[in-house]
Amino acid sequence: MPVMYKCSVCGSELYSFEKVGQDFYGLPTPSELAIKLGGKCPKCRSGLKSAGVENIKLFK
Ligand SMILES: [Zn+2]
Repeated sequence: MPVMYKCSVCGSELYSFEKVGQDFYGLPTPSELAIKLGGKCPKCRSGLKSAGVENIKLFK
């Protein structure tokens, strides 16, 4: 099941992870992702630490 992280402010896709194993090995946590993106949404510039990141699981 692919997992997508979205900015909780503007809803833009920040990161998607399609090869999730049984135990989510390799999937960055929302806080790790925020660090990776410099703490800001690349689209709306909202601070990801304060605004948060939504973890969306995609069912296909
Ligand atoms: Zn955003």
